[in-house]
Amino acid sequence: GTGAGEGVRARPRLTVLSGPSGVGKSSVLAELRRRGPDIHFSVSVTTRRPRPGEVDGVHYHFVDAAEFRRMVDDGELLEHAEFAGNCYGTPRAPVERALASGKPSLLEIELQGARQVRAAMPGARLVMLAPPSWDDLVGRLTGRGTEDPAVVARRLEIAREELAAEPEFDDVVVNHDVGSAATSLLNLVVGPVPGTP
Ligand code: 5GP
Repeated sequence: GTGAGEGVRARPRLTVLSGPSGVGKSSVLAELRRRGPDIHFSVSVTTRRPRPGEVDGVHYHFVDAAEFRRMVDDGELLEHAEFAGNCYGTPRAPVERALASGKPSLLEIELQGARQVRAAMPGARLVMLAPPSWDDLVGRLTGRGTEDPAVVARRLEIAREELAAEPEFDDVVVNHDVGSAATSLLNLVVGPVPGTP
């Protein structure tokens, strides 16, 4: 229809959130979930070991290399990539189900995966979460303390490359604080809510 106000949510949108390791993607997503919007949050599969506090089926589906390979071979993943020695991928079916049912879907994935989604689904919106500064990012990555120094160094190297890809993204959200980053992201995922600035 063409009635007033219908444009905003006319089509469910696929949004990809990327950004360097340590930028605060998990915190921003946790805040978004806490607000309870009607959004499908994709749960990735990974061969990485769970970190303390991570729950299988919630933060990731934790699988072994053989199961990951099977999912790739059977075409079950919308995109997949290797990152710092582990494999990550987005199960295709839940995303398609969400979009078909009219829900926007949100993927939190790294750069190679974002590029694959862009190629496979040209209507997808690519959003980068960026740190206020490089020093800020180094501080956050070093401070996490859950990974060994070699892994942190490798992730910083990847972070530089990811930040350099900013021009490929439709939008950049700078993570000055979790609350306003979550609000910005929400507006991009569901479209601007009438009456908000
Ligand atoms: P972490 O191990 O810190 O949870 O994630 C490492 C990187 O993998 C992050 O940049 C995260 O966005 C990315 N990632 C998580 N899930 C997926 C996925 O399904 N596909 C791709 N391509 N990257 C993912």
